[in-house]
Amino acid sequence: MSKLPPRRDWAWIAHSGPHQIIVACDNDGVLSPFVDDPLAARPLPEAVAALRRLVAVGVRVAIVSGRRAEYLEDRYGPSAESRMTYIGMAGAEIISPSYSWTAPLAREMVPAIRKLVERASAILAPKGIAIEDKVVSLVLHHRTAPELIPLALSFAAESAIAYPNLTVSHNTAVTEIMPDFKIDKGIALMELIRRVGGITSVIYLGDDPANDEVVADTLHGQDDVSSVIVTVAHGQLEQRSLVAKSDFTVPDAAGAARVLNEVADHLELTSS
Ligand SMILES: [Mg+2]
Repeated sequence: MSKLPPRRDWAWIAHSGPHQIIVACDNDGVLSPFVDDPLAARPLPEAVAALRRLVAVGVRVAIVSGRRAEYLEDRYGPSAESRMTYIGMAGAEIISPSYSWTAPLAREMVPAIRKLVERASAILAPKGIAIEDKVVSLVLHHRTAPELIPLALSFAAESAIAYPNLTVSHNTAVTEIMPDFKIDKGIALMELIRRVGGITSVIYLGDDPANDEVVADTLHGQDDVSSVIVTVAHGQLEQRSLVAKSDFTVPDAAGAARVLNEVADHLELTSS
């Protein structure tokens, strides 16, 4: 378990200098509110401003998402300028100010994904499932049409049988067919902690039932890193287990931005 079980009292981070802190955030539903067209989602300006404040005081900021790392770079600015680290594909892609990395399997599976995108466009799109071509994976969106979930799942299962290097990740909003990277957000975050060195505290804001729960479990398992897990709780039953592992919850992306600003307020005060 983490040494400190801090709640919404940021005095505890005075034990760490800003350079010993990582603030890591999921993107969708946390920094970027859900919208009906997932391709139209944009991060809240106040969240982006808060992240910039954190970077300015010396905190390492990471955005850890199922989106492509290049998508994150497009939304938050080039890593070299923003000084943020973008961890995409739930850990399989990293763009940081000092290094970049992509899991080799991502490139290998591009032709297979292209075939599946064509097939899904022919079979699923006419039935009302929105197809998102991420080049290294295929996302089937059904958040606004839950009756189409069985159709999406059977397509995904057939795809994973046809291509054993592919796996399926599913929740009520999306079904994603992607390379089986054998990596997750928790592993990727620990790798970032190791590479940066000297990190004593991590603040993580998430909302994904499976992906972000792995982060909570991973951070809670560290003896030498204190962590605070904040969940943006949208009131979905499937988030229950993640909420139970969190230090506190906020109701929406605006609440997440307030948390980031509180941390920035505190660090600006203590480091000035
Ligand atoms: Mg999310």
